[in-house]
Amino acid sequence: MIVTRELTKRYGRVVAVNAVDLDVREGDRYGFLGPNGSGKTTLVRLLLGLVYATSGEIEVLGERIPARAAAVLPAIGSLVEGPAAYPHLSGRRNLALLDAAGPGGRGRTRKRRIEDALEQVGLAGVDRRPVRAYSLGMRQRLGLAAALLRRPRLLILDEPTNGLDPRGIREVRDLLTTLNEAGTTVFMSSHLLSEVEQLCTRVGIVDRGRLVLQDDLANLRAPTGHILVRSPDATRISMLLDGQVVERDGERLVIRHPDAAELNAMLVREGVRVSAIGEQRRSLEEVVLDVTGHGSDRMGRTP
Ligand code: ATP
Repeated sequence: MIVTRELTKRYGRVVAVNAVDLDVREGDRYGFLGPNGSGKTTLVRLLLGLVYATSGEIEVLGERIPARAAAVLPAIGSLVEGPAAYPHLSGRRNLALLDAAGPGGRGRTRKRRIEDALEQVGLAGVDRRPVRAYSLGMRQRLGLAAALLRRPRLLILDEPTNGLDPRGIREVRDLLTTLNEAGTTVFMSSHLLSEVEQLCTRVGIVDRGRLVLQDDLANLRAPTGHILVRSPDATRISMLLDGQVVERDGERLVIRHPDAAELNAMLVREGVRVSAIGEQRRSLEEVVLDVTGHGSDRMGRTP
């Protein structure tokens, strides 16, 4: 759906995007994750043909960008930095103007399309007040509604939950998941680890313009081969499994063992009380820390 090769964008001496090979596949919910200033917005703008690359290639939906942008953009819904809207018009009016350049149809069809988009982003009840009176969160929702008007195959979104409160963030997450399950590929940038971890199926991690890691989240968070156990009898477990206990912190133990169910059965046989047990997986934060040397200090965990 999106492929870039050695994509580079310089602003004078700043290399905002540095030899990035992006690979976004059909059906992905792709999270492009990086701290502020790492080049996310620049990359999104490059993908949409809004700025030109210094070098490298871009293909979106199988077409070269920017050469074939006019042919490809109608199949893409996008949201980049501060969604554009006429501030003196209402949200509905803004969408109607955008829709006029879209797929057409009868008046009633168009009206339905606009109402559907507003409803999907939780703005169905919005009144006639002008967009200038909207909160940042409402503007962001309106921008998403605009991105949805074309019922796109691909969504390219720059920090789509920017300015939303926790409820709004959850609603956008649910909306993107629903759209994705219905066939829309989602590419979104974010500086929030938790957001990407909860929403995305595939992750690209960008650090100072470079793509330092790109993989399916399931691979990145593969089991470590250790089992996490919580037990009020942690001392007994330490004695029983001497040599297999990798780490102990109060009631919490990390045990080298291939199978949580078997370990649990064995502990129960020994009369050990177990309050929680499960496979240990690396968190996305640990993965990020490994590849960049910095984690939640530069990238936010929660909004
Ligand atoms: P944020 O999360 O803060 O939006 P970002 O990851 O989107 O950051 P970019 O906005 O792409 O990062 O910026 C990457 C680098 O490129 C920064 O050093 C920025 O100062 C620089 N940059 C971006 N746009 C321009 C421009 N038009 N002119 C000069 N430098 C720019």
